[in-house]
Amino acid sequence: MSPKSQATGAVEPNIFILSAPSGTGKSTLVRRVIASRASLCLVVSHTTRPPRPGERDGREYHFVDRGSFERMVAEDGFVEWAEVHGNLYGTSRGELMRHLEAGNDVICEIDIQGAAAVRLALPEAVSIFLLPPSWSALEARLRGRRTETDEVVSRRLVNAHRELEQAPEFDYVVVNDDLEEATEDLLAVLRAAPLAQSHQTRTVEVILASRAHSFVGADS
Ligand code: 5GP
Repeated sequence: MSPKSQATGAVEPNIFILSAPSGTGKSTLVRRVIASRASLCLVVSHTTRPPRPGERDGREYHFVDRGSFERMVAEDGFVEWAEVHGNLYGTSRGELMRHLEAGNDVICEIDIQGAAAVRLALPEAVSIFLLPPSWSALEARLRGRRTETDEVVSRRLVNAHRELEQAPEFDYVVVNDDLEEATEDLLAVLRAAPLAQSHQTRTVEVILASRAHSFVGADS
């Protein structure tokens, strides 16, 4: 939320979606932008995937079993959910709404099918696709991670190929070659995208309404 929007009273939190094939470095990037934008909150997804070493429940994900996940699906608890690489992942409706109602911008770090579902449910969301600098860099990163079996890595590479073809569906594309530069680029998108005319209709309305009030005051 910018000081300008506070000044006009047009306070509309923004919803950002960041998608990329696994191994593109989106978690690192998201952590960096969250650290430098106080009003930006990450919507922590739910997943049935087991935690990797170093991951903590409630920080990287809410780690749940399949039964709990399916109960949330039945109760319409997700804005979107998807099966990715054999595990279930979902964006909690409650968590997303809590951040927005508190006046914070939100960022959802989700896969490509999830991004399409959020765009349908929330058309005002701004979508950003993060690209690896090359195919070989993506492959090296996935193999170098050493937290998954060869079979899982191969499955992720096949999926990545399909996912990269969806980049044109997104509003913005950021290439993660140099982490500093990619962070700057993503911050630039977060700053500029809400200024697009299509996101500013309420700002214009509020200013026009305040002008109408001052006329009433002048005539009476
Ligand atoms: P990982 O298991 O490597 O953390 O994530 C695998 C994929 O699931 C990534 O592409 C990640 O963006 C995606 N993902 C994480 N959370 C969600 C979510 O809530 N919904 C969807 N659709 N995908 C998610």
